[in-house]
Parts: sequence; structure tokens; C-alpha cells
Amino acid sequence: MNADTEAVWLDEGHITASLEAHKVEVPALVAETLAKAEELHGLNADDAAALLAVKDPELRDRIFHAAARVKERIYGRRVVLFAPLYFSSLCGNECLYCAFRSRNTEVRRRALSMQEIDAETRILLRQGHKRLLLVAGEAYPGSGIDYVLDTIDTVYAAREDGASIRRVNVNLAPLSVEDFRRLGERHIGTFQLFQETYHRPTYARVHLAGPKRNFDWRASCFDRAMLAGIDDVGMGLLYGLYDWRFETLALLSHIGHLEERFGVGCHTISVPRMEPAAGSEMAMCPPHPLGDDDFLLLIAVLRLAVPYTGIILSTRENATLRQQALELGVSQISAGSRTSPGGYAETAGEDTDNTDFDAAQFRRGDCRNLEEVIADLAERGYIPSFCTGCYRKGRTGKDFMDLARPGLISRKCTPNALSTFEEYLLDYASPATRALGENAIARCLEDMDDKVRKTSERLLHDVRAGQRDVYC
Ligand code: SAM
Ligand code: SF4
Repeated sequence: MNADTEAVWLDEGHITASLEAHKVEVPALVAETLAKAEELHGLNADDAAALLAVKDPELRDRIFHAAARVKERIYGRRVVLFAPLYFSSLCGNECLYCAFRSRNTEVRRRALSMQEIDAETRILLRQGHKRLLLVAGEAYPGSGIDYVLDTIDTVYAAREDGASIRRVNVNLAPLSVEDFRRLGERHIGTFQLFQETYHRPTYARVHLAGPKRNFDWRASCFDRAMLAGIDDVGMGLLYGLYDWRFETLALLSHIGHLEERFGVGCHTISVPRMEPAAGSEMAMCPPHPLGDDDFLLLIAVLRLAVPYTGIILSTRENATLRQQALELGVSQISAGSRTSPGGYAETAGEDTDNTDFDAAQFRRGDCRNLEEVIADLAERGYIPSFCTGCYRKGRTGKDFMDLARPGLISRKCTPNALSTFEEYLLDYASPATRALGENAIARCLEDMDDKVRKTSERLLHDVRAGQRDVYC
């Protein structure tokens, strides 16, 4: 068995046995597990299984409260914001849940030109975005991944009023070590890839054609990324395809494998739930639908199990659910998103009704624009952050975790969140949003220790004096 091309770490029998052993909730074990989690050293898969088994509402509440406390201690009120940029919907795979699947004739398809990619990026810059996630189907025009590399260069080169995108994350099909090396040279932030399901028979049933049929090539992709020097990777799976408890434990063993082999797990976990998609019967009626209560429980359990790993929630979810999930563990959200290539230009201004559904990958549940999301967050006392400091200073992979685990990273994250939020308020916000934001910043400054406050005030002063892109 070769860990560079096969999921050698995936032991379905062990996961099933662990779920079976924890079929019934045991209050004493839950209490013991929560006490362990509050020490902030994380949980193993068996601990997680004990928590995922809980059905009693009061016991679930205890898990939610513990997760909220862990979230607050590690992340404070910071929320990282980003936008996806879909640059192509051409795809050679037949994933039954996705509008971009190759045999779907009900979707308008296109691959953006470099000029169009520049235009999309500049629209997002005008809104105030600094962090983008590039997304595409798996069939690139031209040869190999050159089109992807050109796209990244185009996004980084785009300028609007002197502002530029400071961090490009990508969500792409798995690559060879050699192609990962070329991707790494483009200075990407996170390489994201969702396994969709860790259950092999389900995987085979829902991926009917194309290179994505190869489960092992996909499940071993982070090994190749790390071998190529990309140490910042984002995992995820598509909830709704198979049993959510099985999937969550498998995800934790995937993280465990990377930690064992490379000394660092993943930087982020995405938790997409299947949403309606044009031309997909499966997406209209997922085989294993995951309800809101169970969804929130799994987010809380992930928060406790891997406390220093970011959890990402996209605009697939509606505003109410996103608010609840933020309290329990989510640390990054997208805002003002479109999931169709060219969607920002096409639906310029407002799109509260998924008018691009016939060209989009799936339906969005939160159609508010960036400023509406920011005003809402600030009103709730959150600090929206566009920070890219760690990546720019080379604090990635194991270096990041070595700072995060003893609690040192928040001494950088909070000042950087405040300075990037202040930039947004000064350069892009309406007077009403600015007032809400300044209020949230003042409350945040009151709650911090002297040293962090001093650093924050220095960065805020610099931004207010006209400097941009200041971070520590
Ligand atoms: N095409 C590449 C791939 O499949 O890995 C790159 C990203 S794909 C465009 C982004 C992700 O969207 C997929 O990994 C899948 O989890 C998610 N997705 C696909 N169809 C979806 C749906 N109907 N609802 C929610 N998420 C969906
Ligand atoms: Fe293509 Fe990705 Fe959609 Fe599958 S999920 S059809 S690979 S875009």
C-alpha cells in the first residue's frame, strides 16, 4: 500500500465498530469527554463518537455550551470573511449531486477568459474583499493546469483603486506531486478539496464517470500536496450523501493520518450540506439528509475535537443557521457569493433570489451582500476579519499550529482582524455600517489584555492615518 496514492489510513471497520460501541449516549462519559475537550488539546475519534451519539436535548445543550466556550477562548469574536470566485463550470466528471456534472444539459456552462477573471476580481475588490477562493469543475481549457495557474496570476495582478487580493485559496480536483509543486509556486493560501464521502460504496454510486471515480487518488491527495511543500490544506465532505456520524469520524481519522505522517493536520474543515442544483435529482432529495440539529451538533463536536482548525461555512446555509453555527464553532464564512462563473458581473448589485440558478453550482441560502453580512456581524459584537497576516509572514502548516496550540496566535489574529476591519469600514462601508463597526471595535478593545490592546491600537492608528495592509 502506498500512502501517496491510496487511503491507507481509512479503516471503515474501526469506524463502524466505534459508532456501534457508542450507539447509546452515556451521560457520565459525555461529561468526562467535555471536561477533556475544555483543556483545549482536542479529542480522539472515540471521544468524538461518544459525543456524536447524544440525542437528549439537555445533554446536547451541554455539548453546545462547551463548544461555545472553546470557540470563544480560541477565536474570540473574530470571523474571517471571503468570497468564492467560480472561474469555470466545464467538467469531465459525473457527480450526481452537482449542476456542473458532465452529462447535465440543464446548466449554462462556461470557462472565463483572463479578462473576465480580472473583471470578476475587480467587482469583489470594489466590495472590500481581500481573500478569494477559486473554484472550478475538472476539465480545464488548454493543456493541464496552466489555465488554473494563469487564473491565479490574473487574480493576484488585478487592481482596483490600489487594492488587491491578498490571499488566493483554491478548491480544485486532486493533482500529482509535480502539479502541486507548480501550484505551490503561485503562492496559494489553502488548497481545499472535499472527499464528498469517505464511504467507498456510496462514493462509487454517486460518481459515475470521469477521473473523480478514483476514490483513492482523491483521498490521498493531501499527502501529495504536503510532499510538494503545500502544508496548508482544507478538508471537507458533502453532508447528505451518507451517514453523517460515519463521515465525521472518517474525517477525523484523515486528519489524524496527516498529523502522524507530516506533523500537521488540516488548516480548515468545510462542512457543506447538499443543496438543490439545476439538473440534479439527487441534490433535490439527498439520500441521507442531515437536519439542522444534527448539523449543529457535528459542528460543535468538530470544534471540540480539533479546536485550532478553522471551520468554514458557506452561503449554502441561511443567515439564521449561520448565526447559530458561528456561536458553536464556525470561524470563517463566505459572503455576497455567486456560484456561477461570471456571476458577479452578470448579477451586479443585488441578487436575493438565486437568479443565476441555471448557471450556478447550487442554490445559495444566504443571498445578503457583503455589507449586509458585515453590519449584522458587527451588531452582534463580532469582528469581521480580512486578515492574511499568517500566510504573508510564512506562519503556515506546523509553524502555525506550534503558535496556535499554546494560545499565541490570537495575540496576532485579534490586532490583524481589527486593522483589516478598520480598513473595510473606512474604505467601503456606509456611515451606518461604519458606526456599528466602530462600536464593535471599541467593545473588543475593552475586553483584551494590555499588550494585545497596545498592538491593536498601534495598527488601528496606522490604518486611520491612511496606511493600508498593516499586520503583525
Ligand atoms: N470540481 C472540483 C471537485 O469536485 O473537487 C472542485 C470543486 S467543486 C466545484 C466544489 C464542491 O462543491 C464539491 O467538492 C462538492 O462538495 C460541492 N458541491 C457540489 N454539488 C453541491 C450541491 N448540490 N450542494 C452543495 N455542495 C455541492
Ligand atoms: Fe465536476 Fe466538482 Fe461538480 Fe463533480 S463536484 S461535477 S467534479 S464540479
